[in-house]
Amino acid sequence: MATFEIIVNNDSRGTLALDSSGKPLFLVVSGGMPTFATQEKKPSDYRAALLGCSGKWLLIPRMGAAPILLNSITVAGMKILAHGDVVELGEFQLRLAEETIEVPAAGDELIRSGLECPWCHDTFRAGVEVTRCPRCGTPHHRTCWLDGGCASRPHCGFRVRNNASPDSGGTR
Ligand SMILES: [Zn+2]
Ligand SMILES: [Zn+2]
Repeated sequence: MATFEIIVNNDSRGTLALDSSGKPLFLVVSGGMPTFATQEKKPSDYRAALLGCSGKWLLIPRMGAAPILLNSITVAGMKILAHGDVVELGEFQLRLAEETIEVPAAGDELIRSGLECPWCHDTFRAGVEVTRCPRCGTPHHRTCWLDGGCASRPHCGFRVRNNASPDSGGTR
């Protein structure tokens, strides 16, 4: 699972949560915000394709389309994206946040500290999946993270919103 954060003028405008098991997704820019289409609905005016493969995301710019920057360098061919990478497409940026899932053991600091999950205010238990917010690093129960993201933490507010599923055909 990866989350692409959409940034316009240094301002976060939402996120797209994607899993890497699927078919290629084609990133289309029209009307200022990115949308995604599936391989079956490949648009003629796509800017780039995002391909999830074995847990990695590949960025494939379309030949002849407007230039795409990756971490401020023009992309000339296929690139493997890593956590924190910023893809610039004209007026907006996509920042990749890769989610990690950890399963703490009884002796781990997370369990011993008695820290609470900010979403449900329950503590962490050994053997129960934990996801850290890719923006602020706060640990959450995996299920709580998928429910609320960092919505309960006003200084962060990072939210997972799975609005890029192939069925919905795009964002908004
Ligand atoms: Zn929780
Ligand atoms: Zn956060």
